[in-house]
Amino acid sequence: QLRVRYAPSPTGHLHIGGARTALFDYLAARRSGGAFIVRFEDTDQTRHLESGIGNQLDGLKWLGLDWDESVDIGGPYGPYRQMERLDLYQPYIDQLVREGNAYPCFCSEEDLEQERAEQESRGELAAGYSGKCRSLTAEQVAAFQAEGRKPSIRFRVPAQKIVAFEDKVRGHVEFESDGIGDFIIARPDGIPTYNFAVIIDDYMMKISLVIRGEEHLSNTPRQIMMYEALGLSVPEFAHLALILNTDRKKMSKRDESIIQFIAQYKDLGYLPEAVVNFIALLGWSPKGEEEFFTKEELIAQFDLDRVSKSPAVFDMDKLNWMNNHYLKKAPLSQVVELSLPHLQKAGYIAAEPDQETLDWVAALVGLNQDRMRFAAEIVELSAIFFKEELVLDEEATAALAEEHVPVVLKSFLAQVEQAEQFTPEAMPALLKQVQKETGYKGKPLFMSIRAGLTGQVHGPDLNMSLYLLGKEKVVSRLQKLL
Ligand code: GLU
Repeated sequence: QLRVRYAPSPTGHLHIGGARTALFDYLAARRSGGAFIVRFEDTDQTRHLESGIGNQLDGLKWLGLDWDESVDIGGPYGPYRQMERLDLYQPYIDQLVREGNAYPCFCSEEDLEQERAEQESRGELAAGYSGKCRSLTAEQVAAFQAEGRKPSIRFRVPAQKIVAFEDKVRGHVEFESDGIGDFIIARPDGIPTYNFAVIIDDYMMKISLVIRGEEHLSNTPRQIMMYEALGLSVPEFAHLALILNTDRKKMSKRDESIIQFIAQYKDLGYLPEAVVNFIALLGWSPKGEEEFFTKEELIAQFDLDRVSKSPAVFDMDKLNWMNNHYLKKAPLSQVVELSLPHLQKAGYIAAEPDQETLDWVAALVGLNQDRMRFAAEIVELSAIFFKEELVLDEEATAALAEEHVPVVLKSFLAQVEQAEQFTPEAMPALLKQVQKETGYKGKPLFMSIRAGLTGQVHGPDLNMSLYLLGKEKVVSRLQKLL
């Protein structure tokens, strides 16, 4: 029974990369019958947004990743945000200093800046902190303090140590401590940095497995050295490989070919089941050929042994294809509910539609349900039913240039004008009449009518399309054409 946490910095909305981490955290926890904990790492106040916590939780909730402990429901090891845990960190900082594993550093930003410049001029790019304050005497420390200077606290990185661990995804990983300069664990205002707070939280919250993005891999040796210095047990680690875009470049938040935030998927009318299914496959590969998994199936089958250490590729087309698969299977009423706000936003449907309009919308959505990649697409897919002006595409223009067209359309117009019923079921009889009158049937007949009324030669079911257009629009469009 694992205890696994997702520990976002609340800097904004839940990003697709964070969602992948959260999902893998969740699946590993649920698979083991253990606990999934959501904790917020908000000690970097410059990047922190107060709305970030709610936004992250909303994203997780929408995806269906329920948690056992967090800021909203509490839990046995709270509080679950670091800024409310400051008192808990202090004794550990004191212990490190007392035992000589950490020390106060009085270097100012300017001192450090100058040090970096000197290192650079000697060609030692980013050598890390020089260790200037490593061996200050008690008198020197007292003197600085007397001047009112407040120190940062730095961890004293042991020399010539190999820090090794068995990563559940990457296998054996090791770092040399000599490449790591003494790093800051608490700032002059007393607030701990991420690297320090994270180990205390993971220890106190009894986290047994840390699953997080590969961008944290180089933090891990720092964290392990601190666990060891404090004599605390070290959790297991699994670092998830990067996510690339289809150009095989690291996915960035500015990448416009990819929808970045979970809230956007929600707004555009994606189904959470589809998004979860898709992101589960960003790094994890199932045993068989099957690609579609419910959340329960994922929980039953998820295994870190089948998580790849090479990067995953985020293919938006695949996600759209997958969402289309889920939309096709969803109950019509659900797809209508997702689509309606988009039709309203486009100004096609009133804010408070009557029942007749709702029935009409249900027919419209039903007609397009198999083609929609996400619900917002209903606007584009159904524009032909709303636009006053009919725009003919190239193929339709060509189709309408054929010589039989006026005869067919004139006959059809007459049929429509006389028609008492204008339902999808009534259409075949009307078309049959046109066939009888003109002698045209099949493609010449249907293509003329489709192209003339929708402006396109391809499209959904003709009977249904005519019904959705409505008698009035059919008549006016035919009159304009003739
Ligand atoms: N707060 C870190 C982040 O948002 C997560 C660190 C961790 O999982 O250890 O990237």
